Amino acid sequence: MEDLLARAAAAERGYLLLDYDGTLVPIAARPDLARPGPGLVELLTRLTGMPGWQVAVVSGRTVEELRRLLPVAGLYLVGVHGAERAAPGEGVERICDPAFREALRHLVGAADELARPEEGFVLEDKGVALALHYRQAAPSRAAEVGRRFVRLARTHLPPGTWRLLGGKKVLEIRPAGTDKGRAVAGLLADYPGTLALYFGDDVTDEDAFRTVRRQGGIEVLVSPVARPTAARYRLDNPSRVWEFLGQLWVRRAETGGGGQGLPTHKHKGRGDGRVG
Ligand SMILES: [Mg+2]
Repeated sequence: MEDLLARAAAAERGYLLLDYDGTLVPIAARPDLARPGPGLVELLTRLTGMPGWQVAVVSGRTVEELRRLLPVAGLYLVGVHGAERAAPGEGVERICDPAFREALRHLVGAADELARPEEGFVLEDKGVALALHYRQAAPSRAAEVGRRFVRLARTHLPPGTWRLLGGKKVLEIRPAGTDKGRAVAGLLADYPGTLALYFGDDVTDEDAFRTVRRQGGIEVLVSPVARPTAARYRLDNPSRVWEFLGQLWVRRAETGGGGQGLPTHKHKGRGDGRVG
């Protein structure tokens, strides 16, 4: 972690790009259980106060949900893998074909009929995307219901307007032409010449890793084990990400980039101890 920290802390201008689930908080059995640990809001608030630095959370969740989970005034937010975005204090911009959005309303009804009688499935309507979570379903049912879910999507949605995404125990229908890589490129275009750091744990983060790598940034896979990835760095779990972010803040503050006083001892350690 040391060379990573040294390189990041030396940057006068930087952009922290952070996935949420599995990166800032551990993966939970149900998406509604992945709450921010105490201290995360405080940590992000400090980071958004670093002069010359920006902070964005780039997630598959909706911007509305991210704002509820992370009430931090200075955050840029990217939701639904890039189909939504919002600058600090501003409204949500949706990037999506109107024909897709209209058709998606019909798919939501049909998919609800499919998933409702099944054990362990959670259907999540994101407005511009539809996710079927099967973390608590039996593997054999997950495969069968998943196939029928995709068949329904083909029936209801105009060809070429959508993509199917497989993540960690989730199948998601999302608008074509959006991914975390494009979203990150859009964010970085507003701050040319900044050092980009992207932290993510899932397959959907690979697009963002590639974007950041092309732009000479730092990509960090959050995973306890090595695996094929475009990221050149790896941290084990959200606790290590918190530790990195806390240390980055301290070092920037020490080099004159901070100005809000040094943090209390808990930010120099392993976060609040409940993470990871
Ligand atoms: Mg994630």
